[in-house]
Amino acid sequence: MIEVKDAKEIKSASDFIFGNPSFANHEQVVFCHDKDTGLKAIIAIHNTTLGPALGGTRMWNYKSDAEAVYDVLRLSRGMTYKAAISGLKLGGGKAVIFGDSAKDKTPEMFMKYGEFVERLNGKYITAEDVGTSTKDMEYIRTATKHVTGLPENMGGSGDPSPVTAYGVFMGMKASAKQKWGSDKLAGKKIAIQGVGHVGENLVRLVSEEGAKVYITDMNQAKLQDLATKYNAEITTLDGIYDVDMDIYAPCALGATLNTKNINRLKCGVVSGAANNQLADEKIHGEMLAAKGILYAPDFLINAGGLINVYSELHGYDRKHSLQHTEHIYDTTLEIFSKAVKENITTLEAAKKIAEERIEAARKNNSGSCFMKTRPF
Ligand code: NAD
Repeated sequence: MIEVKDAKEIKSASDFIFGNPSFANHEQVVFCHDKDTGLKAIIAIHNTTLGPALGGTRMWNYKSDAEAVYDVLRLSRGMTYKAAISGLKLGGGKAVIFGDSAKDKTPEMFMKYGEFVERLNGKYITAEDVGTSTKDMEYIRTATKHVTGLPENMGGSGDPSPVTAYGVFMGMKASAKQKWGSDKLAGKKIAIQGVGHVGENLVRLVSEEGAKVYITDMNQAKLQDLATKYNAEITTLDGIYDVDMDIYAPCALGATLNTKNINRLKCGVVSGAANNQLADEKIHGEMLAAKGILYAPDFLINAGGLINVYSELHGYDRKHSLQHTEHIYDTTLEIFSKAVKENITTLEAAKKIAEERIEAARKNNSGSCFMKTRPF
């Protein structure tokens, strides 16, 4: 699941934070350690201009401190863009805990971690991510209220994946509209890589609209189940790139859009849930554009999950979350139109819009007091 690729670029101690290739004027980076529980964590707060930094806590078996730092810096910056482009009064942050989530986690570790989150006084709000669950959020909640993604029976929003999938579906429809003049997905051939929490929901949504679906995953039981339920066709893990498809939806890993794979793609649109899909934002963004493949920026169309946990801060309202997520359709079209007008890639257009929003808030000073009113 992890998308780290360049941590080896960190060659000296001075590159560790401020010279790190992922460092982007982050406001604060906190290293947390507790000997008794074995907790080793890093919390990175990228930018709080629009509001408190909300982002999940990832638990991963990092091979080195450098790899973890690289990951947390890059992920937290991505959250700043995601919140800003989605019109949320939130900043960007993310945290990582070192360890194998299958065997190293304990309730005590997450309770202790909650204490570290609490010490940031709400400047950072956490949530689930790869390797953490709603149960872990419950443990964190014993030490801090600055946690979202709690189970529904605790007033939380539960699993964000169905809302994330809905946002991806909206982004995909907007992409179809831009590319083919109609947002109908009926009859379109859609290849979905990874049928986990988000991918499975996406298979359902596009199948219900009459698309022909191709799926791949390591989980054979899940593949068989979805193939039966939705008449989806199973492909091999590597074969997904060669499918004769209209839309490629990466919903597993980041960085699958590299030079080798892009050369193989025969689709007109890329629109999926995975974070950081482009191995190199500039090179591969331009390569897709040169091939005439329309790329729906990942941090925009997979923002449904963030929108969903955001709603939890004000008393969870699923209807509101879904309505707000629906705006992804219009924002995606807005980005495409900006990209055409300014002759830039769609990713550049999305980042520009996000940066303009942050800059406007900074100038107006309107984001300086963290979210007192409901923005949507
Ligand atoms: P998940 O772990 O539930 O599902 C991922 C699936 O991908 C698993 O079934 C796994 O077996 C499969 N997979 C792993 N490597 C693969 C490969 N090489 N080829 C094919 N399949 C492979 O994760 P998820 O929650 O569904 O998230 C999917 C992606 O979307 C991730 O990149 C995640 O960061 C991103 N995302 C998720 C959410 C959310 O709400 N869950 C929100 C925003 C972004």
